[in-house]
Amino acid sequence: MPLSLYNSLTRSVEAFRPLDPERVSVYACGPTVYNHVHIGNWSLFTVSDVLVRWLRESGYTVVYVQNITDVEDKIIRDSRAAGEDLVTFTTRWSDAFLEGMGDLDNKRQVDHFPRATEHVDGMVEMIQALLDKGHAYLADDGSIYYRVSSFPTYGELANIKQEDLKAGASGRIKADEYDKEEVGDFALWKGYVEEDGDVFWEPAFRIDGQERVVKGRPGWHIECSVMSSALLGPRIDIHLGGEDLLFPHHQNEIAQSEAATGEAPFVRYWLHHKHLLVDGAKMSKSKGNFYTLKDLMDRYGEKVARPFRYLIASGHYRNSLDFTFAGLESAARTLGNLQEARTRYAKVAGDTGPSAFADEWTGRFVTAMDDDLNGPEALAAIHEMTGEANRRLQNEVLSAADAASAVALLDKADRVFGLGLAESGRTLTAEQQALVDARATARDNKNWAESDRLRDELAAQGIIVKDSKDGQEIRFS
Ligand SMILES: [Zn+2]
Repeated sequence: MPLSLYNSLTRSVEAFRPLDPERVSVYACGPTVYNHVHIGNWSLFTVSDVLVRWLRESGYTVVYVQNITDVEDKIIRDSRAAGEDLVTFTTRWSDAFLEGMGDLDNKRQVDHFPRATEHVDGMVEMIQALLDKGHAYLADDGSIYYRVSSFPTYGELANIKQEDLKAGASGRIKADEYDKEEVGDFALWKGYVEEDGDVFWEPAFRIDGQERVVKGRPGWHIECSVMSSALLGPRIDIHLGGEDLLFPHHQNEIAQSEAATGEAPFVRYWLHHKHLLVDGAKMSKSKGNFYTLKDLMDRYGEKVARPFRYLIASGHYRNSLDFTFAGLESAARTLGNLQEARTRYAKVAGDTGPSAFADEWTGRFVTAMDDDLNGPEALAAIHEMTGEANRRLQNEVLSAADAASAVALLDKADRVFGLGLAESGRTLTAEQQALVDARATARDNKNWAESDRLRDELAAQGIIVKDSKDGQEIRFS
């Protein structure tokens, strides 16, 4: 059975057929960088990461883009409050974001992290195309708006009718935005206001046959349309985001991209991640259930990243997962058991090749992941397999080949969910780390004899070093 995904656009589970079977394009809306992102965002980024890992595990070549929004209302507000210029302010928070991506092992799969401010020229171009085609207009307040009535299928993604929008049914429309033709029209280019300080661009647009310099900055929605088409082309296979982005953000992306490029559909599969709850409620600072990754690390140390990933994997991305500290601690224990199991199996397996022992569970794992990324089912197959392997181990009837088969399935799960199973919860001592570092230096100096000697010395201490294009990979035997 091929991969099938729930598509928000058609509101049904569909077989996944990429536009180009050789190259799957994936775009995920990234963070607006003005503070630490919360664990709900991290949950979403982890789900996106697992999707890409699964596509790659399934043999697809994937180009995965996650943008960084570095110009937006909240950024301008908070950078001014901090007395910092836009670049200083957003660099600090985008660095924090990228560090968290690395800590959570979500970074390696991403091919491009475009920043909105690097693509302003492309935004001006797309807005010009929309002006030329009658989809946009300059209003008296100095902003350029998208004319929603010019796009007949507007509202389709969110299942909202245009006439309901006109009545302001979305509840998101500010009553004072009276310069627009229709209340649902949204800003493509926000005219300069004093509060923007020194954050502005001064592009010239051709409007009604005249050149007009419109001082201002891009709207948030146009950023994603432009960054995705710049890196992935006018049509993309999979677009991910949190459920709160479905409307209006993603609907607006569709309206902009399809109207500007004339190509449709802009996105073939829209995936939306249901919000993470914390202690049974929506996260909010006022309720005191608002956490960032830093909060978790302050409480549990850096090693919390893998249990957090396990916890996310144990829920389905279309159901609200209820995050609790007890749940995270339980995830850490379960993960520890899996790490220990892998260590024991690897010892029994030695260099023996795998038997067919885990084939059936591997089949179930694959079927579950292909079924709209059913993480809980996939993990259930893993636990059933380890249950049986542990029984055989206890009765001393787990053969080396069976153990190798069990390790192979655990390693597959590890590649897909990023659980660090081969780490077996152990870390290098300072002396061992010094040996690893010395080996890296020896390799840099092409001193192969010394590099081999250090590898053997580490192996004698139960540390397996493998060389990959990213450097040395460490595993405990
Ligand atoms: Zn977006």
